[in-house]
Parts: sequence; structure tokens; C-alpha cells
Amino acid sequence: MRYIIHANKSSLEAASDEALHVAEKIRCVLNRPYFFGDFEHHCSPSIGIALFPDSGQTANQILQQADKAMYQSKAKGRNTISFFHQSIQEAADARMFLEKELRSAIENQDFILYYQPQTDRLGRVSGSEALIRWEHGQKGLIAPDQFIPVAEEAGLIVPLGIWVFRESCAQMRKWLDNGLDIQHISINVSSKQFRQQDFVDQIADAIRQYEVPASRFVIELTEGVVIDNIDDTVEKMRALKQLGVKISIDDFGTGYSSLTYLKQLPLDELKIDKSFVRDIATDFNDAIIIETIINMAHNLGIDVIAEGVETEEQRDFLYNKGCRVFQGYYFSRPMTSADFEAWVRK
Ligand code: C2E
Ligand code: CA
Ligand code: CA
Repeated sequence: MRYIIHANKSSLEAASDEALHVAEKIRCVLNRPYFFGDFEHHCSPSIGIALFPDSGQTANQILQQADKAMYQSKAKGRNTISFFHQSIQEAADARMFLEKELRSAIENQDFILYYQPQTDRLGRVSGSEALIRWEHGQKGLIAPDQFIPVAEEAGLIVPLGIWVFRESCAQMRKWLDNGLDIQHISINVSSKQFRQQDFVDQIADAIRQYEVPASRFVIELTEGVVIDNIDDTVEKMRALKQLGVKISIDDFGTGYSSLTYLKQLPLDELKIDKSFVRDIATDFNDAIIIETIINMAHNLGIDVIAEGVETEEQRDFLYNKGCRVFQGYYFSRPMTSADFEAWVRK
């Protein structure tokens, strides 16, 4: 909803106060329940406010900016009032710029995979997780949290994900050729990528092309992805199993874990989320959750790994509860493939 109010105040501050006051009144009126037939209905309006001349010079600019402010309100969970601010515009501009840069980075393959060891209690390597970084010309290495969400929204996660998988295949081929026996590389797959119709074909093609055994790869999916479309999930998981690729549920415990779906799925591994591991020593509930996950996995015949293991105490707690595979800074940070290889040989 867009209203144009003539506040006619001398200062910006007074004008914002006045506009807010009017908007608040409108919000309250629209908030009142109303009857339509026999049913009571509720409205939760999202209101955006733009001020002239602060927000722009032309009518179109001002309307656009009121619109942006309104979307801000929606994003905040509705029933709210937001002002257009320069900072909103700046954030939007920065995002568009990032998207443009990301597009050309994908074309130029300006990315690198880091590998973090997955080990036993004593730090002997079994597998590794591939973690992407963007090698940015000016800004240096950029962490995935800074660009994966943008890649997802912009539909760039599909080509990026394909690059990650192919790069992992090439790496595994090299390790095997160098006599380095890394059981597997775990690869993060995001929702949009997993839902692609040809997802399994892409995986099969890469494995064939690089001549690597499928059993050397673990696909990590989050619970949210898995239950989002359970039929498609089951079908794809079965096809992956048929190939020989393993499947792990990442960040386990943070989603909608239910035994019903766990039993339906051909899973190989549950990965206990680092948030539970972090608070093992201080949060009784987290300790219980961890114990429950480990027991549940064992009862279902699924492996379990804990991520975010930073201290000896955390490792020992997990070990005593039956967890046998660990990943975290206590053992090693993620590193380049060369460093990883040196680390393993040492
Ligand atoms: P994730 O899959 O949960 O990966 C684990 C993250 O925890 C990594 O962050 C890792 O560096 C970090 N970590 C490892 N050990 C510890 C520890 O002991 N303590 C703490 N506090 N953190 C630890 P990173 O590399 O920044 O990756 C962040 C997220 O980005 C990943 O979370 C994953 O969701 C996503 N991601 C990374 N690579 C890819 C990729 O190739 N494709 C997709 N779709 N997502 C990726
Ligand atoms: Ca992961
Ligand atoms: Ca995780």
C-alpha cells in the first residue's frame, strides 16, 4: 500500500515523525479484524515511507523508493513500517554489483577448493570436505557465506556447483595418482542444484570423465533440502546410491529431523551441527541432543560425524558418546589441496 502524505515540515526529522505518526494510525486501522461472510479476517499491512526531497527528485523515484521501503517491511515480517534510506539503496546497489562480479568470476573460474580433514580421535585422516573460496582479484579470498546466498538467488549456484563437483573429481584423481588414499571428498550441494532435473546425470558424467570411483564422493544435503520435496529427494538419492555416491545430512539437528523421513531415505551419514558441539560443556540440552543423534544413527545403521570440533574436551565428550569421526579446528582448519596433502603425509 502506498500513500503520499504532504507533511510540509521544515526539517527532515519533523517530517519523518509526522509521516510515522500517520502511518501508525493507518496500520492500526488496517489491523482491526473484519468480517467477510461468517469469517473473521485479519490484515497485517506492510508500510513503506519515502520522504521528498530526501528520497529523490522525480515522482517515479519517490514511488520506487516507497516501494523498496515497503518490501523492507515485508521482509521484517509484515505489520511494520519502514523508511526509505540511502543505506537500503546502497545495499541493493552492492548486491547488484556483487552479482555482476560473481557472474564473471564463474566464467573465469576464479574459485578454489579448500579441504578440511575428517579424522578419527587421533587425527588420522579418513576423508575431507571440499569448501569453496572465491579468489577475488582485489578483495583476496572471499568466504562462501559472502557469496553462496547471492549465487543461489541469482541462479548462479548451478554452474558453480557443477564446477565444485568436477574440481573435486579432478582432485581425487590426482590424489589417487599420487598414492594418497583419501577415502572420500564430501561436497556441499545446495537446494537449487539438487533440484535440477539432470543433477544425477551431471554427477555421473563427471565421475566417468575423471575416471574416479563414485564411492569416493559424499553429497552433503541439509535437512531443509531433503524434506522440501520428499518424492524427488528419494528418487534422486536412490539414483545416487545406484551410482555408488554416498549421502550425508549436513547441519543435522537444526532442521525438522523426524524418524519417519530418516527411515525412508538411503542415508550413509549424519553430520552433527557445530552449534551443538560448541555448547557441549555448558548446555545440558545440547549434550542430550548429541547423545540422541548418535544413538539414533547407530540404531538406523548410519555413520555419524561431528563438525566444529575445536577442543579436546569436545572431542572426548563425542568419543565417549560413541562418535568416531571428527572435523574441526582442533584437528585442522580447511586448507589448500597442496597443504592438505602435506598435512596427511605428515
Ligand atoms: P558447512 O557445510 O557447515 O561447512 C562447515 C563450515 O564450518 C566451514 O565454513 C568450515 O570452515 C567451518 N568450520 C570447520 N571447522 C570449524 C570449527 O572447528 N569451528 C568453527 N566455528 N567452524 C568450523 P566455510 O568454509 O566458511 O563454509 C561455510 C558454508 O558455506 C558451508 O557450511 C556450506 O554451507 C557453504 N559452502 C561451502 N562450500 C560450498 C560449496 O562448494 N557449495 C555450496 N553449495 N555451499 C558451500
Ligand atoms: Ca558441509
Ligand atoms: Ca555443516
